[in-house]
Amino acid sequence: MDAFQFTLATTVDQAIRSASKSPTAQQGAQVRFVAGGTNLIDMMKLDVERPKEIVDINALALGAIQPTPGGGLQLGALARNADVAHHPVVVRDYPVLSQALLSGASPQLRNMATTAGNLLQRTRCVYFRDTAHACNKREPGSGCSAIDGHNRMLAILGTSKDCIATNPSDQNVALAALEATIQVQGPRGQRSIPIHEFYLLPGSTPNRETVLEPGDLITSVTLPPPPPGSHSVYLKLRDRAAYEFALASAAVVLTTENRRIRSARVALGGVGTKPWRSLEAERALEGRPVDAATFRNAAAEALKGARPQSENGFKMDLSQRCLVRALTLATRTA
Ligand SMILES: Cc1cc2nc3c(=O)[nH]c(=O)nc-3n(C[C@H](O)[C@H](O)[C@H](O)COP(=O)(O)OP(=O)(O)OC[C@H]3O[C@@H](n4cnc5c(N)ncnc54)[C@H](O)[C@@H]3O)c2cc1C
Ligand code: SF4
Repeated sequence: MDAFQFTLATTVDQAIRSASKSPTAQQGAQVRFVAGGTNLIDMMKLDVERPKEIVDINALALGAIQPTPGGGLQLGALARNADVAHHPVVVRDYPVLSQALLSGASPQLRNMATTAGNLLQRTRCVYFRDTAHACNKREPGSGCSAIDGHNRMLAILGTSKDCIATNPSDQNVALAALEATIQVQGPRGQRSIPIHEFYLLPGSTPNRETVLEPGDLITSVTLPPPPPGSHSVYLKLRDRAAYEFALASAAVVLTTENRRIRSARVALGGVGTKPWRSLEAERALEGRPVDAATFRNAAAEALKGARPQSENGFKMDLSQRCLVRALTLATRTA
């Protein structure tokens, strides 16, 4: 790990100033905020991240979980994953998010990990994490070792010839199905970014993962009110029952009426280069009867544009089965 300068931010303005106007930032060197540190510090120990300056944001008042005037819920950027997962309003109104968070990592990690840190956690592609291998995401233009290498865990949706890495987060799949909005404050003021505009496809610049600019601080994530009478489920399939990333996962938020699907929000995990909202699956569900044929058709639609790699063709079937099962669970009482 390289030596770095450490700044403890006590106000949001100071954090943003440090990340955009400090001498290291002005010299073009990387400045990183640190929240729970469960991803950033790992990346630094592996020499994947080599920031010249770290701005600790843990003293900022950004940890609250509170209702919004419109009937939704605001999650502070520093709200810990465990606190969000067990919050009574999240458990009651957004079970898909609670289930997604509890399916990830371990209790100790969830006590440290934060809402914003989870949004920005880096891929688990083994070549990204090993500086001995070429990786366009880590070192633009160096090549992608995964395309002809070990790619069993990697993506089949949203890939490019330059990167096929999966977004590893469970939380983010649930947030995509919940149509969350991300509040950001930066050198040029505040803005709100719908989650479907937040992540970028890898294309020819896989090093650029989100629309965030240098100095941008995530301050909170807002969930809209849940659709009245909705049922939501997160289902994660993985190699081990705990402490393991998804091979395939599905987040669904549904409302039904007279055994027909009135509205559907669907997102897939473990298969996309970003948390994968499937408008195709939603279209195939809405207005259709609640039955296995509808679910199978929607799952096939969701995977239509998928491009399996040499080792992960099994995800085509696995992710469809995962979505069918999640839809079945969400409509058990419909
Ligand atoms: C062994 C292990 C197993 C895991 N298993 C899972 C799993 O199964 N599922 C899963 O989803 N995750 C899993 N994780 C990942 C874990 O969820 C993330 O490490 C965690 O969510 C990151 O949050 P953090 O607060 O610690 O982020 P940090 O490490 O502090 O930061 C991560 C990134 O976010 C940036 N950042 C943090 N806060 C802000 C902010 N407010 N504004 C702008 N930038 C910010 C940092 O600069 C950094 O780039 C696992 C991690 C480990 C170590
Ligand atoms: S898939 Fe992406 S992260 Fe993995 S080696 Fe290729 S470029 Fe790097």
